[in-house]
Amino acid sequence: MSNSPAFPSASLLGYPRIGRRRELKKAVEAFWAGKIDEAALDTAAKEIQLTGARRLFDLGLGEAAAIPGTFSYYDQVLDATTHIGAVPARFGELRNAAGELDLNAYFTLARGTAEIQPLEMTKWFDTNYHYLVPEIGPETDFSVTSNRIVEQFEFAKSNGFVTRPYLVGPVTYLLLSKASDDAPSGFSPLSRLEDVLPVYVELLSRLAAAGATWLQLDEPALVADQDVPLADIQAAVARSYEVLTAATERPAILVSTPFGALSELLPTLAATNIEALHIDAFKGALPSAGELALLAGKTVVAGVVDGHNIWRNDLAASAARLDALKAAGLDVAVSTSTSTQHVPHDVEEETQLPAELRSWLAFADQKVGEVVTLAAYVGDPASAASAIASATSVIASRAAAAGVRRPRVRARLAALTTDDFNRSAYPVREAAQEKALDLPPLPTTTIGSFPQTGEIRSARARANKGAITAEDYTRLMKEEIKRVVDLQEELGFDVLVHGEPERNDMVQYFAENLEGFDVTVHGWVQSYGSRCTRPSILWGDVTREKAITVEWAAYAQSLTAKPMKGMLTGPVTILAWSFVRDDQPLGETANQVALALRDEITDLEAAGIKVIQVDEPALRELLPLRRADQPAYLDWSVNSFRLATAGAADGTQVHTHLCYSEFGVIIDAIDGLDADVTSIEAARSRMEVVNDLESHGFGRGVGPGVYDIHSPRVPGQAEVSELLGTAVKHVPVRQLWVNPDCGLKTRGYAETEESLRNLVAATREVRAQL
Ligand code: GLN
Ligand code: ZN
Repeated sequence: MSNSPAFPSASLLGYPRIGRRRELKKAVEAFWAGKIDEAALDTAAKEIQLTGARRLFDLGLGEAAAIPGTFSYYDQVLDATTHIGAVPARFGELRNAAGELDLNAYFTLARGTAEIQPLEMTKWFDTNYHYLVPEIGPETDFSVTSNRIVEQFEFAKSNGFVTRPYLVGPVTYLLLSKASDDAPSGFSPLSRLEDVLPVYVELLSRLAAAGATWLQLDEPALVADQDVPLADIQAAVARSYEVLTAATERPAILVSTPFGALSELLPTLAATNIEALHIDAFKGALPSAGELALLAGKTVVAGVVDGHNIWRNDLAASAARLDALKAAGLDVAVSTSTSTQHVPHDVEEETQLPAELRSWLAFADQKVGEVVTLAAYVGDPASAASAIASATSVIASRAAAAGVRRPRVRARLAALTTDDFNRSAYPVREAAQEKALDLPPLPTTTIGSFPQTGEIRSARARANKGAITAEDYTRLMKEEIKRVVDLQEELGFDVLVHGEPERNDMVQYFAENLEGFDVTVHGWVQSYGSRCTRPSILWGDVTREKAITVEWAAYAQSLTAKPMKGMLTGPVTILAWSFVRDDQPLGETANQVALALRDEITDLEAAGIKVIQVDEPALRELLPLRRADQPAYLDWSVNSFRLATAGAADGTQVHTHLCYSEFGVIIDAIDGLDADVTSIEAARSRMEVVNDLESHGFGRGVGPGVYDIHSPRVPGQAEVSELLGTAVKHVPVRQLWVNPDCGLKTRGYAETEESLRNLVAATREVRAQL
């Protein structure tokens, strides 16, 4: 390609695709339920695409290729999978008569069938978005099996919008893949690069034929440390972009690298013939002058506006970064650091938020304005002067606003000593707890939530609308708690839970009850597929003005002689699933949340609660992408948990819960939490985790899950006994607990009851053999 078209001066790396009112969620779920046909789904999808394109155009993305073609029915990694034909053999033949993977095949890969497990899901870098993991083996047969990316481009073009199609790049795609079941051990998906590249070349040529001027190939895996040796990745990057840029018919290529600095791979990409390179110019330091010099001749797309958090951009700081890039003599365009799919659409929707708070925020639509302003700055610094000045003054007003810094909170944090982070030695606690709780061997418990029934949801909705009084709502929730407690008594559980009916969400519930947070009404962000979450906004110093969970826990405890678990969400998880203030280190914010939880624990103890669980399912999620940054993270995150829980008396049993099993890398950190009992997911991986526990010499209580709650399937008694049999071979019986993998809120009552019955029966069976 000789004369490359100019890259748009202002663009976004990606835009939310779920729709301003979650229209895509509604449409795909209706399609799955058989309520609408494919044509109706297609109409809804086109409407969302077009509404987004129009909006971006109106907000100032008027240049060709400025609007990212990032619409997806489910997931961008699945899109790549269906375009290159990478269907695992276990799915059988999914291609239709035309040799294509149509929408039915697409959703089969995403959701599985009665017999076939769907593709596994895992976190997309350090976000709370989950992608579907490709499975690649020596036999995977690559070819172009979908034309959707081309059709979506043509559709937008026919409506007057020349978008910039998006594909996950080949190196990231293979690095994110796992070896398929039939692959020999040690097989690396990256070894299939030569077979994948021709398929990308074919897609490039189809896009060029359709009139696409630019294509965005997303390569975030290049900013994260990988298990594959760096030299292999460098070779793969060099080879990929040599092949792709040599294609005769192709759009100009932008390689995007969100989520951090490229470091060692910048020179590799710089040496290729790609036309534009996006760098994350928000997070961390800019590349050195020497590195920047390597980029001469390419457009540098500077991601100076944060795509991953919601704070209004410090335009003066961004302008300084752009100046540095310009001073290096580079051709500079402006964009976001990551796709804005990780933030909600529009602050203007949140009219219930205090106006002052709203003025500090920028969601996707406001970020467009910032990018456009900064692009104007690159062309003519004077043109942006007043916008920069007003951003600076808003940021200053935020720093000085009431509630952002609370002297009492700051003084309390400053006065902390190491004692505040440490409990008595475990044997002392163990003895005190044995006396206080008097539990049988292999105690049974659940993780916290019970099924959230239609009645619970509707009661909450009615309470929010004012259709029922707060007293009525409380009464309904207490009735539900009583049902859940009675059921556990009847099933024969040893440590009970209240079932969490009063919680809409395990983080938002706490955010609504703590100072320093606000919550949105329309701020939905895609978590995976059609699932969305509504992260809270943590904007100020955190305090607990009143007890949060004590009334519910005390009521539940009053119904039973068995110990009732108090149930809290830990500081790291509260941070991970909220939009968190960016004006101080995360560790400081985490400690503020920890102090609020610490006070809650004191109140729970005073109300007679002897077992308290502090959930930290997100501990693994925030783990930095670069190994060098991980120890510091694990240090503050573990400390915040310890600060939250170390005020508990020796006789109070502190539990924690983590949602995943592959925790080999962070097992030291989990041990460092110093919880008396740790429950983890293990049923899906058939108790693999007990090997890690054994080799690590994990010394306190542990409950590897014996019931996979992610599916409606009921585990039989024999199956649970077998899992327990495996566990007792590796973990001393006196440490072992019996519990499901996770909370039950997404399950129905019928399967839950039967599964829990089997769980208790299996425990009794294994106990009898001890
Ligand atoms: N206590 C929570 C529940 O049971 C834990 C949920 C989670 O780990 N994600 O729902
Ligand atoms: Zn869980």
